[in-house]
Amino acid sequence: MDVNQFREFARSAVDFVADYLENIRDRPVLPSVEPGYLHKLLPEVVPEQPEQWQDVMKDIERVIMPGITNWQSPNFHAYYPTATSFPSIVGEMITSGLGIIGFSWICSPACTELEVVLMDWLGKFLDLPPSFLNCSEGPGGGVIQGSASEAILVAVLAAREQTVRRMKLDHPEMTESEIRGKLVSYSSDQSNSCVEKAGLLAAVPIRLIKADENGSLRGETLEAAILADIQSGLIPIICIATFGTTGTCAFDKMDELGPICKKYNIWLHIDAAYAGAALCCPELRSSMNGIDWADSFNFNLHKWMMVNFDCCAMWLKNADTLVEAFSVDRIYLSHQFQGESKAPDYRHWQIPLGRRFRALKVWIVLRTIGAENIRNNIRKQIKLAEMFENYVRADDRFEIVSARSMGLVCFRLKGDCSLTRQLLEKITERKKIYMIQATCNGKLMMRFVVAGLDPKESDVVFAWNEIAGESRKLLESTKIAPAEDVLTKLTNNFATTLTTAFHEEKLK
Ligand SMILES: *Cc1c(COP(=O)(O)O)cnc(C)c1O
Repeated sequence: MDVNQFREFARSAVDFVADYLENIRDRPVLPSVEPGYLHKLLPEVVPEQPEQWQDVMKDIERVIMPGITNWQSPNFHAYYPTATSFPSIVGEMITSGLGIIGFSWICSPACTELEVVLMDWLGKFLDLPPSFLNCSEGPGGGVIQGSASEAILVAVLAAREQTVRRMKLDHPEMTESEIRGKLVSYSSDQSNSCVEKAGLLAAVPIRLIKADENGSLRGETLEAAILADIQSGLIPIICIATFGTTGTCAFDKMDELGPICKKYNIWLHIDAAYAGAALCCPELRSSMNGIDWADSFNFNLHKWMMVNFDCCAMWLKNADTLVEAFSVDRIYLSHQFQGESKAPDYRHWQIPLGRRFRALKVWIVLRTIGAENIRNNIRKQIKLAEMFENYVRADDRFEIVSARSMGLVCFRLKGDCSLTRQLLEKITERKKIYMIQATCNGKLMMRFVVAGLDPKESDVVFAWNEIAGESRKLLESTKIAPAEDVLTKLTNNFATTLTTAFHEEKLK
């Protein structure tokens, strides 16, 4: 392929993506293919001779699109949102065009330095404690990791190495393997599965402590677990708290956990993968008090800040702990500017050696969308979740399981869990909207998350129609008298709830 063919191919790809996103509501949110469908459509070996890009584009529609789950559809209400935006897509294009790997400053000074500057922009945008920022006096700093999973693993590994070093000094009578065999860490039973996985990968058992009835990890339960472990000779290293748990978007109580972690010299990490983005809205900060207590913090721009996957911002109060834990030097990696604070070698802050130029798409998004529209996008999604919550509350066939939190509503059909299960199965089968199930205090529930590229009020109405309609059919078939449909009653009330404060045009 020569450069002129590249121009044509790339233009056609941009048109393809633009058409796809513009008309995404026309596609069922879930694919209809069976496992193994793709194998039947492809040859078994690499094509020996080059094919025309036009033929490949045709096959994208024929082979790939039938197997795509449309995450950017506003009818996608599962998991948490995965962000994208037009500027972010362009950012990825330019990044891949530059084709750099920025593991140390000299590998592309702009890659490192833009990340240093942007992590300060973001830290200020979220009003994080200044001690996290690269521009602070101390050893604090921020870095972009690929995912929350990586950020959490990095925190566990750094905490582990810090504790091992401290124990070796304090207890010269213990061997290193003795110390390593006694390490233990903590999180709540509501934390994301990647926390448990980080424990497996780091070879540190993680106790998943029972959260309270609101899904929050509490100080008293944490302290009881720590004391029991210390009594049996174990060595606590880290507690991973959550702002916005994956099940119900609950918030751990930092003002309780912080003093306990301090008392027992335990690293405190906050995983705010989804909800952390909301810190940019001053009115949404109250559920996230006590960040000051944390040693490290992460949130995903690729969930709720309009930057596409992968992009997880992570800050540490003492970034030296990473360098101490992960630094391996080889002669071929050294350069004359090592150790400059404005030019960290980010390879020491992460698991892989190579690293993507993610800061570029972040910069493009922050500049072309702007802080105000990013805040308003979050506010809009919360408004839409409130609108959905009101539909649920006004329909006495349903109950809210845990109070709406950010853009998530957890609800169920009243009565036996099997009703909710059947309803969700039916809705999933129809593929018009996509929600997933979870359990809360022993009850099966559905999670409704506002997501997609540009969700609107009409999308919430569409989802509610689908849910209410299928519920009516299900309850009729189980011979329970259907309740009055509240949609028409409510639509008029909510039509005007979304104010013009949100400028949809600017997001494009
Ligand atoms: C989504 C999520 C994660 C996992 O994020 P990745 O970036 O995919 O690793 C972790 N924690 C919470 C609370 C999440 O919601």
